[in-house]
Amino acid sequence: MNEKEPNIQDAMMREMKDKKSFDKAQAYAYEYLEEVFDRQVFPQEKALKELSHFEEEMPSESKEATEIIDFLNKYGAPATMAQLGGRYFGFVNGSAVPAGLAAKNLATYWDQNTALQVISPLAAKLESVVEKWLIDLFQFPKSTVAGFVSGTSSANLCGLAAARYRLLERLGWDVNKKGLFNAPKLRVVANQHAHASVIKALGILGFGKESIEWVATDDQGRILPELLPNLDAQTIVILQAGNVNSGAFDDFETICTKAQNAQAWVHIDGAFGLWARTVDQLEYLTKGMEKANSWAVDGHKTLNTPYDSGIILCRDKEAIVAALHMTGSYIILGQERDGMFYTPEMSRRARIIELWATLKYLGKNGINQMIYGLHKRAVQFGKELSKLNGFNVLNDIVFNQVVVCCETDELTEKTLARIQKQGVCWVGGSSWQGKKVIRISVCSWATTEEDVLRSVQSFATAFREVE
Ligand SMILES: *Cc1c(COP(=O)(O)O)cnc(C)c1O
Repeated sequence: MNEKEPNIQDAMMREMKDKKSFDKAQAYAYEYLEEVFDRQVFPQEKALKELSHFEEEMPSESKEATEIIDFLNKYGAPATMAQLGGRYFGFVNGSAVPAGLAAKNLATYWDQNTALQVISPLAAKLESVVEKWLIDLFQFPKSTVAGFVSGTSSANLCGLAAARYRLLERLGWDVNKKGLFNAPKLRVVANQHAHASVIKALGILGFGKESIEWVATDDQGRILPELLPNLDAQTIVILQAGNVNSGAFDDFETICTKAQNAQAWVHIDGAFGLWARTVDQLEYLTKGMEKANSWAVDGHKTLNTPYDSGIILCRDKEAIVAALHMTGSYIILGQERDGMFYTPEMSRRARIIELWATLKYLGKNGINQMIYGLHKRAVQFGKELSKLNGFNVLNDIVFNQVVVCCETDELTEKTLARIQKQGVCWVGGSSWQGKKVIRISVCSWATTEEDVLRSVQSFATAFREVE
């Protein structure tokens, strides 16, 4: 090294001590919080254009950390979606509870890796505490274990991997040792509207898409139980707690009972809907789901933890650990919990900290109130839209999803584009029952009655402009 060059280690240590870049980041974050609830939801044209500032050659020289933070804030912040606010209804994406954000902020400086108890005793402790809390909240069997993953896509993969392991093991086939070629055939029975992440997980696990036995549904997206094929001990059944468009829930009581009698494995994709079980007024939607074998759920949707937070819950600890286990000569096992045995990853950030903080902050009553609030706002949205000229609500609003369309696909698409451009709110499109639709997902704790009214107003204006 040239002695005249600035020493990067010294520079970084100075930065850690005087904290200028940290102070800046904090100040910018607070500015953002001041604005995000009122600003246009989708970034303005100018902000999108200015993203081109990020397109540069990999720099050769190091810079001041404060310079990096200034640059990031200047061109980054305006190009974000105001997802934290109350008028973002896109996909099924939550906001973040303040205590969760604050805890994440603090934990950022701890930079913990949750692979093993010996790497982070704190993270291991919080994972085992939250595992117990979730079993209590969802009233799942005492044997249930939890893996803390990046989202429901990953959770679905873990649950289905556990199912694959267990069903083959019962047939005398150790899939970890022998693989899938020449293995006894397993069957997969799934809701015709299963989420794309389920299909992706099945693909990764070696179940071809064409081998899935799809079960037809009613007009809300619920499996028609009488159309269920015969189930047996070689079958994985995949059900939904919350259809990604309509929010509908399968009839768990009937289907899980049949599956249990046949010794089939039931996996429930409850990415956002599983939380209905924690709400007194909505719990009926989830009746019988405790009879399933594995459940996938997100923290970052209806529970409003920061991204990224998903959970796999599995009543068969041996199966999930066998499916996700890994070893190495350097691995030191903890006395209590080593998180990596319940997840595909080894190193993971300690997302458990935000999940723990969110649950502890809200408590059971807070969760009940917050999630029931999402339902009430969705119902309000549906009612207000039904009063408007030109819109037709297509689903029963059982949870937080509203599916709406105009008279023709063309009108629906044009109206949707106008709404997105106006920036008062942001909603996405989808297809439902052969029609183009606008899909509204009320997923943010911050959404008020006023936010719904302003958004509905934007729908009305958009429709008048394209009609
Ligand atoms: C969002 C969603 C998923 C995927 O979850 P990610 O957290 O985005 O990985 C799976 N199933 C359903 C029903 C969903 O809504």
